[in-house]
Amino acid sequence: MSNKRFLLVRRPKGTPVPEDFAFVSEPIPSPAAGSITVRNHYASLDPAQRGWMDDAPSYMPPIGLGEPVRATTVGRVHASANKDFAAGDWVLGLNGIEEYSLVAPGGFTAKIDVAKVPSPSYFLSALGAVGLTAYFGLLEDGKPQRGETVLVSAAAGAVGSIVGQIAKIKGCRTIGIAGGERKCKRLITDYGFDVDIDYRGKSMRELSAEIAAAAPGGVNVVFENVGGDVLDAALMNLAPKARIVLCGLISEYNAPEGKAGARNLWQLIVKQATMRGFLIRDYVPRFAEGGAQIAEWIGQKRLRVDEHVVAGIDNAYAAFMLLFSGGNDGKLILKIA
Ligand code: NDP
Repeated sequence: MSNKRFLLVRRPKGTPVPEDFAFVSEPIPSPAAGSITVRNHYASLDPAQRGWMDDAPSYMPPIGLGEPVRATTVGRVHASANKDFAAGDWVLGLNGIEEYSLVAPGGFTAKIDVAKVPSPSYFLSALGAVGLTAYFGLLEDGKPQRGETVLVSAAAGAVGSIVGQIAKIKGCRTIGIAGGERKCKRLITDYGFDVDIDYRGKSMRELSAEIAAAAPGGVNVVFENVGGDVLDAALMNLAPKARIVLCGLISEYNAPEGKAGARNLWQLIVKQATMRGFLIRDYVPRFAEGGAQIAEWIGQKRLRVDEHVVAGIDNAYAAFMLLFSGGNDGKLILKIA
């Protein structure tokens, strides 16, 4: 009985390589008073983890070298020295990519009710930060009105696919940008987008022209997950008073020498538009409200949830890299147990 852990041992320069990580096997930790040991069943693989690997100013401290790659996990309490948790309880927590995590008193862990969900992993996808990012980012920051046009980048991904579907539920017209013919087809058939745009192999000007053709009156809400040329093309197509929800900039996360930066910011002035950084943790106090609404839409079959589950902790590196090649179809999750 040992605990396999996926450690960060070197800070990646640009795109992470296998040598930036190492596996170790250690004894399963025993909980001291007030602590619990969790057997992790699923670990969330998120673009944000790439940012946490850098020693740069952020909303969280960097992952320490020699520490497991930080991840939100869903698992079961293996051993408990805390009266609030019993062995066998299902829990969600911010732990690491490792088979067992020791959660000290005060560490973030919440019990979850897995009885009514298709899989406990839903607490990492639709009912977790991903679904709630889509929900609060779009509705609270984007403020879409019925009949408005919403543009979503990385639209076939975990967050983007849910943003597009919620925008349709709210009566908006939706344009999705994704990579490749297959994913673009899925935007229409699986996620109900009105228009799909394939960004691969296209210049900023070509992308901008395609958005203009799809939204001659401009775009009212941009839900930005990608940055770079994709964001620049969106900026060229804003409707007056447009709202840009700056949720992610995945095209820039592996840029070795700083970030490219948006070049068309002048358009914010021209259109009196707003662009605001979004961070899901602002909405933690409202998670129950957002989760209940998302669960209701799933129950009514108005919201489709796709998970891309890769089995085996040994595949952690290869699985993580799918986020940057576009190899994931839906929320990327590592199955550990
Ligand atoms: P996804 O499931 O969307 O996976 C990432 C996708 O990004 C890939 O499948 C790929 O799709 C696309 N992509 C990768 N590299 C590039 C590139 N160079 N250019 C264009 N597209 C690229 O991941 P998530 O849904 O988990 O995350 C989406 C975004 O949301 C990320 O930017 C993430 O950082 C952000 N996020 C922000 C949060 C917040 O609180 N601010 C919370 C959660 C997520 P394709 O095949 O279409 O290229």
